[in-house]
Amino acid sequence: MLMDHDDAKEYLRSRMQDYLVTHHQVRNLRTNFQCVNASAHAHADRNPSMHFYPDSNRCKCFACGVSYDIFEFIRIDFGLSGFDETFKKACDLYDVQIARYVRKDNDYQKAFGQRCSEHPGISGMPYGKEFRRPSGTIREIPDQMSYYGRCVDLRKHSEKAMCYLAKRGLQEETIDYFQIGYDPSWHHPGTRNRPTERIIIPNSSNSYLARVLDDTLILGEYDHPKMKVGRQHLFNSRAIRPQSVVFVVEGEIDAMSIVQFGIPCVGLGSASQYRKLSDFLRLNPDNAKGSFFLICLDDDKAGKERAMDLSRLLDTDGFQCAMSNGLSAPFKDPNERLHMDPEGLGDVLRRAWNECQKLRIRRESA
Ligand SMILES: [Zn+2]
Repeated sequence: MLMDHDDAKEYLRSRMQDYLVTHHQVRNLRTNFQCVNASAHAHADRNPSMHFYPDSNRCKCFACGVSYDIFEFIRIDFGLSGFDETFKKACDLYDVQIARYVRKDNDYQKAFGQRCSEHPGISGMPYGKEFRRPSGTIREIPDQMSYYGRCVDLRKHSEKAMCYLAKRGLQEETIDYFQIGYDPSWHHPGTRNRPTERIIIPNSSNSYLARVLDDTLILGEYDHPKMKVGRQHLFNSRAIRPQSVVFVVEGEIDAMSIVQFGIPCVGLGSASQYRKLSDFLRLNPDNAKGSFFLICLDDDKAGKERAMDLSRLLDTDGFQCAMSNGLSAPFKDPNERLHMDPEGLGDVLRRAWNECQKLRIRRESA
């Protein structure tokens, strides 16, 4: 996991409980256990006198009268001397890499916040409680804006990441617009899987997509090649404005490929997430007054069925829409067409957009 020094310190302190279980074999964290500094006790702390406080992530020994955090545990357990040595050991134990291009978190937050006020889509958190999945399978994660900032810096300095994005046909302007980043050693928060190299695509301030650069990698349990972290929102919802024609696609990279031609486009994440668009429109009806949606999901069974479902939903809510599956044929998806046949994609997009615009105006004046 990539973070700066201060975030790392905070994160590592939060691993206290895990450390007690794995390194001190503490079975029950509610009862006392042997002091980490047992050698200083008269009887090696045979009657355990140490207690864990989850709120502060610290342990206190009633015999020594001293309170310890994870760094003091690691220092004693591994016989280390200074804090630097201890901190390095803690980073090793918990797979933490310290970002090389460190700026202050609030600089990043400011920079990202400014971008978001220009383009409100990324920070837009349009989903109220009523739209959350009751199963609670998707957890909210903490604010990621400073992480995105670091990843953008790393991407700018990484030839490999820039090459990957260029190979997918994405231009620097598009890459900057979507604040795409790069994490050379990403792993899913809360897991200790082997880190993998990822492209980081922000979805909201609390959710992102981490995509591997190398599709041939053999991955672990939490390491899907396109891993979504946090509850995902409609991708690029800022494209939805009153009286506009907006294309609707499945993938984030497909949406970016279309936006590159100046065509407003949102991404559902996948065909099965088609409700994300209608949820967004119900919560932001003013953004979409008089808008027209062209639904262009993938040309497979799921894509066709969900496109029908979505057009019915939009229809019911009084939004104009049409369906198209001819944007990328004969290629797999808009992004594949972007790097195989950019002129063809541009042509078909502009023609489709003009058609939709005519329909929209005709219905508006009807
Ligand atoms: Zn003690």
